[in-house]
Amino acid sequence: MDLRDKLYIDGEWSPSADRNLLTVFGAADGKPLGSVPQGSVADVDRAVAAARAAFEGWAATPLRRRLELLETLHAKLLEHREEIARIITGEVGMPLKLSRAIQAGLPAVTLEETIKLAKEYPFEQQLGNSLIIREAAGVVACITPWNFPLHQLILKLAPALTAGCTAVVKPSEEAPLSAFLLFDLIDACGFPPGVVNLISGPGRPIGEALAAHPAIDMISFTGSTAAGRRISELAAPTIKRVAMELGGKSASILLDDAELEAAVKGTVNSCFLNSGQTCSALTRMLVPETRYAAVVEQTIRVAQTFSVGDPFAGQAKLGPLVSEKQQRRVRDYIQCGIDEGAELLLGGPEIPEDLPCGYYVKPTVFGRVTPDMTIAREEIFGPVLSILSYRDEDEAVNIANDSPYGLSGAVWSRQRSRAERIARRLRTGQVDINGGRFNPLAPFGGYKQSGNGREMGSFGLEEFLELKSLQS
Ligand code: NAD
Repeated sequence: MDLRDKLYIDGEWSPSADRNLLTVFGAADGKPLGSVPQGSVADVDRAVAAARAAFEGWAATPLRRRLELLETLHAKLLEHREEIARIITGEVGMPLKLSRAIQAGLPAVTLEETIKLAKEYPFEQQLGNSLIIREAAGVVACITPWNFPLHQLILKLAPALTAGCTAVVKPSEEAPLSAFLLFDLIDACGFPPGVVNLISGPGRPIGEALAAHPAIDMISFTGSTAAGRRISELAAPTIKRVAMELGGKSASILLDDAELEAAVKGTVNSCFLNSGQTCSALTRMLVPETRYAAVVEQTIRVAQTFSVGDPFAGQAKLGPLVSEKQQRRVRDYIQCGIDEGAELLLGGPEIPEDLPCGYYVKPTVFGRVTPDMTIAREEIFGPVLSILSYRDEDEAVNIANDSPYGLSGAVWSRQRSRAERIARRLRTGQVDINGGRFNPLAPFGGYKQSGNGREMGSFGLEEFLELKSLQS
C-alpha cells in the first residue's frame, strides 16, 4: 500500500488542512492500492501563495540553473523507471510492458527534449527598434487526467519550469500515486521552496478553486471537454490564460488504394491502446463501401489478438479500465450501439467471463455504424471501434469533420500526395499518414472542442511564455 498523507507545499511535505484521505483502487482487482489527502481549498490557497512568493526569484534564475535542476530530475526519472511503470499499471491498468515504454518512458523523453530545445530557443530577439522578450507567464496551475498520469504532468511541468513559471500541480484523484513519487524526486533535486507544489483531491472543489484563483496567471488543463468548459467559466472573471487539451473522436480514413493490413492494424492498435483510454485514439474507421467486407474480416482478425487479462501477468495485450465508473460507462455505450442498430462484430457489453474482479471490458468492434449514432459521436474512452462506410473522398472528409471534436486523425493511401491532400482537409490538430511515427517535437493539441492549447516541443514551451517588447 502506498499511503500518502501529506501534500508538497513550499518545499516540504506537510499535512493537508483536511485530514480525510482518498483511497486509490487497483484497476486489475478493485482492491485499495494506496491513499492520498482529500485536500481542501485552504491547501490550494497555501500552495498558490507559496508559488506566488517563489515566482520572482525563479523567473530571474538563469536558464542554465533551471535546466540543471531539470537535468537532475531527468536522471531520477530514469532511475525510478520500473517503479513508475508498476505504480501506473496498478492504478490505470496498462500492461506492464507497455507501461515501461509509454507511461514511464515518455515523461523522461519529454523532459529531455524540452531541456535540449530550451538551450537553443530564442527567448529574445531584436525587431527594428524593439527588443522582443519571451518571459515566464507567471504562476501556473496544472490540472491533469488519469490516463497517462505522469506523461500529462511532465508535458506541463517541463516547459513551465523551463520558462520560469512556478506551479501548483493537481493530478487526477483516480491515479495520483505517480505524481507523489515524482514529488519525492523533485524534493531530492533541490528546487527552491515554492517553485513546484503538489495538492491532491477531486475536481470539485480543488480544481475549481485553482481555476478561479485570482493569484494564478494560467491554467494548463488536460481532461474532459465538460470539465474544460467549467474551468473556462471559472477562469473568465480573472482573464487568466487557459490552455486546454480535451477529448477526441478521431477518424482513420482508409482510402480505396490503402494497404489494408497496415491500415487496419494501425487503426485497431491506436483504438485499443491503454484499453481505449487515449484522447487521440482512432475510434472511427472510415472505409470505402467497395472494400467494406475485406476490412471487416481483417479488423475482426486483428482485434481478436487483443487478449484481455492481468496487466502484470505478461500475456495480456489489453488490461482493465481505470475504474468501476469507467467500466460501467463503456459497457453502457456498447449497449447503446446495439440498441441504436449498429452491427456487433466482436465483443459486447458483458464482463469477460474469466475476469469477474477488476474493471475489464471486452474489446469490441461495431460495423455498419452511421454518423448519427451515439457511438460515432461521443468519446467512449474504452476499447470500442466503430466502422463506417463512405462512397467517395468528399463524403469521407465530411464524416471525419462532422464532430464537435478535432484532436487527431489518420489517412491511409499508397499515394502519399493523395493522403496528404485529404489530411489537409481534416479539422484536427494532428493527422498521421500511413502510420506516421509519434514525434515529441511536433505540436500536440486539438481544434474545436478538443481544446485550444498545444503541448510538446517549442510549441509547448510557448504556452508558458508571455511576450514583452521594449522600444528604444
Ligand atoms: P476529467 O475532466 O474528469 O478530469 C481531469 C482533471 O480535471 C482531474 O484532475 C479532475 O480532478 C479535474 N476536474 C474535473 N472536474 C473539474 C472541475 N469542474 N474543475 C476543475 N477541475 C476538474 O477527465 P479524466 O476522466 O481524468 O480524463 C479523461 C479525459 O481527458 C478524456 O476526455 C480525454 O480525452 C481527455 N484527455 C485529453 C488529452 C489531450 O491531450 N487532448 C490527453 C489525455 C486525456
